[in-house]
Amino acid sequence: MQFAAHTDTSPMRASYSQIDLYAPDRTPCATDLSDNTNLWGVPPHAARALGDAGAAAVTRYPSLYASELKGALAGRAGVTADMIVTGCGSDDVLDSAIRAFAEPGDRVAVPDPSFAMIPIFARMNGLEPVLVPLRDGTVLDADAMLATGARVIYLCSPNNPTGNLLDAAAVERVVREAPGVVILDEAYADFAGGDARDLLRISDRLLLCRTMSKAYGLAGLRVGYAVGAPALVAAVEKSRGPYKVNALAERAALAALGDDEDWVRARVAEAVDNRERLGAELRARALAPLPSAANFVLVPLPGAAAVAARMRELGVAVRPFTALPSIGDALRISVGPWELMARFLEAFDEAAAC
Ligand SMILES: *Cc1c(COP(=O)(O)O)cnc(C)c1O
Repeated sequence: MQFAAHTDTSPMRASYSQIDLYAPDRTPCATDLSDNTNLWGVPPHAARALGDAGAAAVTRYPSLYASELKGALAGRAGVTADMIVTGCGSDDVLDSAIRAFAEPGDRVAVPDPSFAMIPIFARMNGLEPVLVPLRDGTVLDADAMLATGARVIYLCSPNNPTGNLLDAAAVERVVREAPGVVILDEAYADFAGGDARDLLRISDRLLLCRTMSKAYGLAGLRVGYAVGAPALVAAVEKSRGPYKVNALAERAALAALGDDEDWVRARVAEAVDNRERLGAELRARALAPLPSAANFVLVPLPGAAAVAARMRELGVAVRPFTALPSIGDALRISVGPWELMARFLEAFDEAAAC
């Protein structure tokens, strides 16, 4: 069979040529400190729930919109279930929200540096990401964010990859004055000792995104959710579509939110202690790690990519960043049990000495 010759027309959407496939190095590595997941492992009751569910749970479809999970999450957040939307990871919720609140061609304002997936989700949905530098690499510039006039404003606090909390007054101003929707990504709020839930009282155009991939140790199951006004949440659910939280994931998430809460709280406390201890170790090496409210530490380091590559050969993976605005090259290190942090320090000392 002959196909017509395509000389100047690609079968792909033209705008997709601007999308880079998200593909950080995930080659298996003995000690992987590159993705900020729970390095203590799976919460025990969630693990048991997965075993008990067995194969029988997968012959039928899961619930359409994870209603049982929504109920549990609502109880935990102190809101009604119609204020919760779930998804296949919070990535799915973020993608669906961006799509729900903007028409193709509209702008999405994103701080820079921040979560690398957001510009990709914007372009996947035909939207234009507008990067707004954080002052000194960490400080939210509310005026500059608002000046974009963007239909959707994305904020992340604690911010990935810098680790800092955004200034509460600046966030509140953006929420009050934004012309459209504000998405506040709180993937790491469990490690920050607080969240921005109070802001839901002043705006019905605020969506707080959370995940069970980090503190709750369920990254491989892909469970995320968001909290917001019922009308907002309903729009995200429409954009998201049915069956996005699979049957096993919903069972494990319910167990984690129930019987595993103490386990999660204890691991979070340990992560916070080890984060501070890791910061002190780095400062003792004449480095200047950024203050972190998350379960990772970002440390500026010229030539970070080469150091990370040498560390990989030594069996320790960390995430390198190149030329972050106002920060420069840097390494992001996930925090876990101290034994892993000790392995990091050993490999780092060897790799950085080259
Ligand atoms: C890890 C991460 C997510 C994604 O979480 P999933 O629920 O696993 O999709 C979202 N936002 C930020 C800032 C993250 O670092």
